[in-house]
Amino acid sequence: MCGIVGILGRQPAAPLLLDALKRLEYRGYDSAGIATLVNGGIERRRAEGKLANLERVLEEEPLPGTVGIGHTRWATHGAPTRDNAHPHQAGGVAVVHNGIIENFQALRDELIAKGHRFETETDTEVIPQLVSHYLEQGVGPAAAAAAALKRLEGAFALAMLFAGHDDLLIGARRGSPLAIGYGDGEMYLGSDALALAPLTDRIQYLEEGDWAVLKPRGATVY
Ligand code: GLU
Repeated sequence: MCGIVGILGRQPAAPLLLDALKRLEYRGYDSAGIATLVNGGIERRRAEGKLANLERVLEEEPLPGTVGIGHTRWATHGAPTRDNAHPHQAGGVAVVHNGIIENFQALRDELIAKGHRFETETDTEVIPQLVSHYLEQGVGPAAAAAAALKRLEGAFALAMLFAGHDDLLIGARRGSPLAIGYGDGEMYLGSDALALAPLTDRIQYLEEGDWAVLKPRGATVY
């Protein structure tokens, strides 16, 4: 069970995400990655192994943007490679995920039959593919996330980032902890309070089955 962080902020997000991931290192992990919104589009940096490797990638190719998600992965489905490292992206959505999607194979088969092309060996990738499928049908991010969450079976916590929406993060908790952090005009998501410690001490743990829409000035929990 590894780490998730999300920042809906006003300062460069990548260094803060990296710092928060370091606080989650105690959980163990085999690879790591970060995605932010840059000029409205999703950009990712990922690396195998320790966070020092991701830090090096970020030094070589800095990631601007004030809104982002980060992850430390403990592989359950697919080798611990860079390509299998989170965040995973499909169309206009990027996702980080802790846990296991039990019905991923059935969803993957269904989406492949609809013309989706998968890039990783992970169970996680069905989540952005599914959300992107609903987005393509013309619904907004929250409705697409809600429709996708209804289809997922298993234990998970996840955070989602949407292209073209620099005022939005979505988080969900089912069987794996996730907390919302409240800042001053900024909002955060984290696997635990420790991840968010330098950012805020105003923390709300999601309850089992909750999902949340974060905006810069607060969160709505469903
Ligand atoms: N099952 C997912 C994977 O293998 C997430 C693992 C985790 O919790 O880090 O990528």
